[in-house]
Amino acid sequence: MGSMDSGIRDVRAGRLASSEYSEVFSDLHPPLSRHEAFVESDRCYFCYDAPCMNACPTGIDIPLFIREIAAGNPTGSAKTILSENILGGMCARVCPTETLCEQACVREAAEGKPVKIGLLQRYATDYLMENGQHPFTRAAPTGKSVAVVGAGPAGLSAAHRLAMHGHDVTIFEARPKAGGLNEYGIAAYKSVDDFAQKELDFILEIGGITIQNDKALGRDISLDALRAGFDAVFLGVGLPGVNELGLDGEDAAGCIDAVDYISVLRQSNDLSEIAVGRDVVVIGGGMTAIDVAVQTKLLGAENVIIAYRRGPESMNASEFEQELALKNGVIIRHWLQPRALTRNERGEVCGITLDYTTMNDGRLETTGESVTLASDQIFKAIGQMPAEKILAEAGMALSRGRISVDEERRTSIPGIWAGGDCIAGGQDLTVAGVQDGKLAAESIHRALSMQPEKVSGFAEAVIASNSEPATASAQHPANPSHISG
Ligand SMILES: Cc1cc2nc3c(=O)[nH]c(=O)nc-3n(C[C@H](O)[C@H](O)[C@H](O)COP(=O)(O)OP(=O)(O)OC[C@H]3O[C@@H](n4cnc5c(N)ncnc54)[C@H](O)[C@@H]3O)c2cc1C
Ligand code: SF4
Repeated sequence: MGSMDSGIRDVRAGRLASSEYSEVFSDLHPPLSRHEAFVESDRCYFCYDAPCMNACPTGIDIPLFIREIAAGNPTGSAKTILSENILGGMCARVCPTETLCEQACVREAAEGKPVKIGLLQRYATDYLMENGQHPFTRAAPTGKSVAVVGAGPAGLSAAHRLAMHGHDVTIFEARPKAGGLNEYGIAAYKSVDDFAQKELDFILEIGGITIQNDKALGRDISLDALRAGFDAVFLGVGLPGVNELGLDGEDAAGCIDAVDYISVLRQSNDLSEIAVGRDVVVIGGGMTAIDVAVQTKLLGAENVIIAYRRGPESMNASEFEQELALKNGVIIRHWLQPRALTRNERGEVCGITLDYTTMNDGRLETTGESVTLASDQIFKAIGQMPAEKILAEAGMALSRGRISVDEERRTSIPGIWAGGDCIAGGQDLTVAGVQDGKLAAESIHRALSMQPEKVSGFAEAVIASNSEPATASAQHPANPSHISG
């Protein structure tokens, strides 16, 4: 690392030959062939009260879907998966299975070699999406409408389930494309071939879902308007803000929000145009830290260091993710906490000083020693922040800035449900967002089913008969606006 001496940052695009990009960013877990899927499915014991199933946040019947693959019925298998998790294709690619179903698999305990549940799930869902039709049909229209805010995994899962129950769903999404972090955040090598958009199209095939892109809650629409115009509202807004390091100069060039950088990378059609430093330092210990470190290394950075303030066992990134980083040549340095940024004469960040840390009586303390690392790019990956302002203005009960919900994902405001990263107590995983969306949709469906039936054609009849105007008591008791349409 030499760039700090001169203060000249070495940040360049096109560090690799153009033919190399697709190779280095290829599928992290290549799919199983038909034969491999048969062989792998044969390893499953089809356990009674299967521990893998209990470990799946969406409760997919794993032994059943594996048995269906073994029986040569991948379409049926996919339907089993998708009936619990409509984003089963993406989850097969991004779930940390090593800490969920595969960790719980009895073959992991017995031989340290679990059934490859994630890859089998991918085999079945890919088969259906490539060869089959959308496996679910919509119930008869209920005439009820639901607003979903945010088109990430939580919002899409809620929207699909609500549409299946016959409700009309409008999704309001702040960004130009739907998909949330599936489209803008997940590492490029986990979701190749534009899979997020393919899965989105697949989800929308159910019908009854309209997406309004570039429509942000708090900017273009208000919660009050949504509550007035729809029978129910689901919030799946994720965590739109980022945590700051709290250091002088972190707004300067060279100090970058990791999630923003990944989103530019994910939207790029030509990775040779993405500028990357020769020396890169990443601050953080979660999935985002690993993802930005690995991807900058793949883009051709020479030295990539992840600096994390505690030990390896405290990192949010799983052991598998940490190994992935190491395999790709990333160095992980533990027990280091940022103290100050170094800037060159142009004001750009070109280095960082970190204090060594230690645990003392359960408290993290600095040791008094420090190290300074030269860096062309410093990535902040110390977590994201909720949209606290919008949520607080709505008067919703929050817990540490995230929305408090009950087990059905109801918020403290009647008629508003929430799920995914924006709620308190979640796991901040794609699969957890999907489960929240599903649970909320079922709860909304139950609530809407208890509302009195809409009187079909009532408003038209009133107009046609030119009779007395409808009295308040003749109107829909829950929401007068329901009479039209
Ligand atoms: C870099 C990175 C890598 C990750 N990798 C993995 C992984 O490999 N595996 C895994 O399981 N999880 C991973 N995660 C976590 C996972 O992506 C999230 O847990 C998941 O996307 C949460 O879904 P969500 O629908 O709650 O939020 P999001 O996916 O964030 O979607 C929220 C949506 O709401 C929209 N929105 C926000 N504010 C507004 C507003 N005011 N009005 C309208 N729309 C709004 C956003 O634009 C977005 O589309 C990763 C996260 C990050 C940041
Ligand atoms: S725990 Fe493993 S062996 Fe048992 S049903 Fe699940 S995948 Fe099959």
